[in-house]
Amino acid sequence: MSDGDLQGICNARLHIPDEHGDNHAEMQCRMLAGHEGVHFESYMRGGNNYSYVSVSWTMDDAPPVEWECTDCKKLVKDRRYMDECPENNCDGWMVKK
Ligand SMILES: [Zn+2]
Ligand SMILES: [Zn+2]
Repeated sequence: MSDGDLQGICNARLHIPDEHGDNHAEMQCRMLAGHEGVHFESYMRGGNNYSYVSVSWTMDDAPPVEWECTDCKKLVKDRRYMDECPENNCDGWMVKK
């Protein structure tokens, strides 16, 4: 997981470039990990420009995370949070590389 990722939450990213192409806004999906359908984030913008903002998208812009088993050293690339090693007969757990 990258910084700001929450356990049990999808965390898919969407990068929206600005008009000049030199900056971007980042959205982060707040639905449950492994959800179906489009990624989704919504928030309330406050102050004088009070507004309800919602964005949905299909493609996760975040790079995959590399996980390594503490026991058999198996490597897995996956954006989702991992706990137990996917190898059968391995009691290791997965840590971020
Ligand atoms: Zn999502
Ligand atoms: Zn293992």
